[in-house]
Amino acid sequence: MKVPLLDLDAHYKPIMGQIRQVLDEVFATHQYILGPQVKAFEAMIQDYLGVKHAIGCASGTDALVLALKALEIGKNDEVITTPFTFFATAGSIARVGAKPVFVDILPDTFNIDPAEIAKAITSKTKAIMPVHLFGQVSEMDRINEIAKRHNLAVIEDNAQGIGALYMEQQGGTIGDIGTLSFFPSKNLGCMGDGGMCLTNDADLAQKLRQLRVHGENPKYYHKWVGLNSRLDSIQAAVLAVKLPYLEEWSEKRRQNAEYYYQHLQDVPQIKLPVIRSQAKSIYNQFTIIAENRDELKNHLLDSGIGCAIYYPLPLHLQECFADLNGKAGDLPISEESAERVLSIPIYPELTDSQKDRVIEVIKDFYN
Ligand SMILES: *Cc1c(COP(=O)(O)O)cnc(C)c1O
Repeated sequence: MKVPLLDLDAHYKPIMGQIRQVLDEVFATHQYILGPQVKAFEAMIQDYLGVKHAIGCASGTDALVLALKALEIGKNDEVITTPFTFFATAGSIARVGAKPVFVDILPDTFNIDPAEIAKAITSKTKAIMPVHLFGQVSEMDRINEIAKRHNLAVIEDNAQGIGALYMEQQGGTIGDIGTLSFFPSKNLGCMGDGGMCLTNDADLAQKLRQLRVHGENPKYYHKWVGLNSRLDSIQAAVLAVKLPYLEEWSEKRRQNAEYYYQHLQDVPQIKLPVIRSQAKSIYNQFTIIAENRDELKNHLLDSGIGCAIYYPLPLHLQECFADLNGKAGDLPISEESAERVLSIPIYPELTDSQKDRVIEVIKDFYN
């Protein structure tokens, strides 16, 4: 039996008819850029997350760039973030000309360590960018408290956390600006690239709406140099079909996680994901810490089971950031995590027999 890391065929089968229908509606009107589907989907997200303003854009990466630009962060500014994340987090900071300042993570949740943030603040620090990694919101109460004390902005990279809660609050709506990605492998994925900014601040919202159309207001008059970064009407139409199913999909991911917790807890060579009692995860990934990780990975792949390392090289050690002078040993928890993590299939459509197969192959490896 094969168990892929993600099964988009199984995912789309039940809703493909609905998607074809809404796409026909877009094709009937030819309003491809910022059409009625985009406005409608933004309103649906505002409703779902309980946030005042949702601004669609071309990708989760662009959402971060737009957020930084809206907060006027650029040259000579520093943004404190985690090195244990997808590249886009720090890439967006560098793209606006600011400096990513990496601090270490917590060993159990893999999220940024608030105590380390406080130590890294300088006179140049403008913002903190926590990432809600693998679907679990960072410790936003502590992060907001530090930000408030030092007058810093908070941008939540919530690309992996749509619908995840922290102290009953929706991730991505707790800081100044939050972002979403609709990349196909995220919990709410579209059929291409897509992203969104979230904020409760009306001024920031207006600025974000202008920045995504080259900073123009009114048309052909430019107050800022913005981007060309819109969510396509086609993608918004697809996402509007999918959003009503999201809670059900997240619940299935949590049930799959529960199944793994039950059946893998007696394997001493692996550590299962730790979710804080204040947090409700959406399990974008189910990421274990494994002894002999590389051998386990090969054994799973040889047995037809999808798995992947998110992420193999922390960002402070990436070649493109060499001028930041990060070196091996600087951020030991991130570096050790990169050597020991492995993500296994958790997608909502997993069957019991598929989960049993994953469990069997892992147990078989260590016996
Ligand atoms: C996916 C992802 C992004 C970027 O999203 P794109 O839509 O692919 O540009 C940013 N940050 C994190 C943590 C992500 O996982």
